Amino acid sequence: MRLALLFVLILLPFWRAGYKGAKRLTRLAAVWLYRQMLSKLARTLPIEAGVTIVFAPHQDDETLGCGGLIAHKRYEGLPVHVVFITDGSASHPGHPQIGPVEMAARRCAEAREALAILGVETNAMHFLDAADGTLAWLEPSSRETLITRIGRLVDQLQPAEIFVPCCPDGSTEHDAVFNLVRESLQRTHRRPTVWQYPIWSWWNPFLLLKHLFQAGRYYRHPLEDYHLIKERAMTRYRSQLQPLDPWKEPVIPPELQQVFHGRDEYFFHFDLNPPENAAPSPPGPVS
Ligand SMILES: [Zn+2]
Repeated sequence: MRLALLFVLILLPFWRAGYKGAKRLTRLAAVWLYRQMLSKLARTLPIEAGVTIVFAPHQDDETLGCGGLIAHKRYEGLPVHVVFITDGSASHPGHPQIGPVEMAARRCAEAREALAILGVETNAMHFLDAADGTLAWLEPSSRETLITRIGRLVDQLQPAEIFVPCCPDGSTEHDAVFNLVRESLQRTHRRPTVWQYPIWSWWNPFLLLKHLFQAGRYYRHPLEDYHLIKERAMTRYRSQLQPLDPWKEPVIPPELQQVFHGRDEYFFHFDLNPPENAAPSPPGPVS
């Protein structure tokens, strides 16, 4: 492990300088190093009773980051809701054959298939359909609407635990979702346990290191046999994990995909400190 750490430290200046080969090697070494560290230092994630909500910016994040946990909880008969914030339409900009509308429809169908494999009931799949690629630059009124919709879901479902992508996660959309959910929670009187899950952080050695130091409390979910269910669910995300002709590369690099085939999932605890006297969100319909 010390050798790997030394290797990463030597490569980091080349990473910063932007050398492609050095970036790839640094990523691979860092992923291996972090997994070694986490597997030894992380505590085992307790499987809490009560409602769980997994917030996913896109249709695939929930399965890649939490698929084994979702399958485990559903096998135990625990309620799990998955909330997709965007419509996923921006994953293939400029693709000659598949436009944004068709891509959104494909990803929605893939998500339903994947979640069904993980055991999530149809009425626990929520699609908020915000335009993909816009979350970081929403008009104040649109942002407010989204925060209110998330808050209503939280009020209605009364979760014991919430899972959101890490912030920062190397994606403006993922960071925006974290902040939208955080703001929604701060306006409610709900105090669920909040967990962050890394997706693109795995692809940036600096980000994962930041989470390790900042979170203080990190947990491991050993997938055991649930990894087989997760693997099956992942295969449903064909548009993201396989190249769409004539493109030769998938949206998610194969080496990053490998991270999610591992036998553990990792989560960082986030302390939510809502302001005192926060007002509850107003009642209303949930989409
Ligand atoms: Zn995503």
